[in-house]
Amino acid sequence: MDAPADFRALPSIDHLLKSEAAAPLLDRYGRTLVTDELRATLQDIRAAMRTGGTPPDEAGIFAALLARLEHRDRSNLRPLFNLTGTVLHTNLGRALLAEEAIAAAVDAMREAAALEFDLDSGRRGERDSHLRGLLCELTGAEDATIVNNNAAAVLIALNAVGAGREAIVSRGELIEIGGAFRMPDIMERAGVRLVEVGTTNRTHPKDYRGALRPETALILKVHTSNYRIEGFTAEVPGAELADIAKEAGVALVNDLGSGTLIDLSRFGLKREPTVREAVAEGAGLVTFSGDKLLGGPQAGFIVGRRDLIAEINRNPLKRALRVDKIRIAALEATLKLYRDPDRLAARLPTFRLLSRKECDIRQQAERLAPALATLLAPLGYAVDVCACASQIGSGALPVDTIPSAGLRITGASGGALETLAARLRALPRPILGRIGDGALILDLRCLLDEAGFLDSLSSGFAPS
Ligand SMILES: *Cc1c(COP(=O)(O)O)cnc(C)c1O
Repeated sequence: MDAPADFRALPSIDHLLKSEAAAPLLDRYGRTLVTDELRATLQDIRAAMRTGGTPPDEAGIFAALLARLEHRDRSNLRPLFNLTGTVLHTNLGRALLAEEAIAAAVDAMREAAALEFDLDSGRRGERDSHLRGLLCELTGAEDATIVNNNAAAVLIALNAVGAGREAIVSRGELIEIGGAFRMPDIMERAGVRLVEVGTTNRTHPKDYRGALRPETALILKVHTSNYRIEGFTAEVPGAELADIAKEAGVALVNDLGSGTLIDLSRFGLKREPTVREAVAEGAGLVTFSGDKLLGGPQAGFIVGRRDLIAEINRNPLKRALRVDKIRIAALEATLKLYRDPDRLAARLPTFRLLSRKECDIRQQAERLAPALATLLAPLGYAVDVCACASQIGSGALPVDTIPSAGLRITGASGGALETLAARLRALPRPILGRIGDGALILDLRCLLDEAGFLDSLSSGFAPS
């Protein structure tokens, strides 16, 4: 048995930790982590030696150690290239923030801020006060409040207005958004009794009227944001629903989901109902997300009647669902951009990406295809420029796509695409595409940093 002798030839942990090469690692990662990973590195080496491997020299040991430390230090939250074709991808964090919002958030993180403090009077202030004025100005509502996300906005609105009583909803609007957000479940948790009316495809004013009882607290309208019912359909327009609610003395709560503050046709997209329109139609409360089409950080906005907003603010859930100063700062900066709609496409990344022209994206694809082909051809992949159809995502205009362009990568064998997709995900800055029709498709609509994209690729695929 000569293996034990070989093991003794390996330097000790103590020796290695004292060597010059260890100093920068200790400085960067700390003694505990370096010692742990060094022990694991030596274990790997011994295991390799048992099956006939030759022991590395000290430089080799440190190279292996550094690789382990870097891997362990790597964050799953690191930036990535979203080339899935879905601009507002919930699993990838939805909207990218405007520089103005990022700067405001960073300032708020670094310093104390008058979050709940009124600088004029020197008295305790209110968290919502930073956004209330802007939200009222941009939506025409009397009052506004802000919570953690739109799911929370719906939950607290229903609880505050309807706990222990009934809410009428059309069967065509009992949506599931994904991630366990099902409208009937949320209503149950909010303590309101669901009264379903109409059918999946058609609901009429008489259906709502017929369901009104003394126990009715509200009528809920839900924007069917992630699907569309087509064909023989009927829904009651918001304004008419508001009249029915008003006659009966109950509130109309309108969950807009994505909720946009401006007419999207300005960016060549199809119209979605705006928050201002929903307010003008007479809804008592309108709820919408901060990080969908609005283009800000995660948040849920509730705008509407002063008495109903006051009811929400008195609700104990409000404290549990409140947002922090970092997001309030970013939201304020984002909302301010809407005061100048003409420059929105230049300043708000969501609209910048959504309004990119197909011909520009195609040119970008043509620029990038040769470089990608050079890196991937030796591995047996072919690269072509292709047409793509981007989606807004996060439940806005679910069946409408935006013409785009991208790179279509095909491989020799079936499994090759999965292998390539995994390698792209393992890059220091991962690249996420979409596999479909026997190809890996990279939709370039969301690629603004071309140089970074090429850097990331070449770090993982050495040119031949
Ligand atoms: C997205 C959406 C929600 C949930 O909003 P979050 O901001 O994801 O919490 C609720 N209702 C509708 C109609 C939606 O589209």
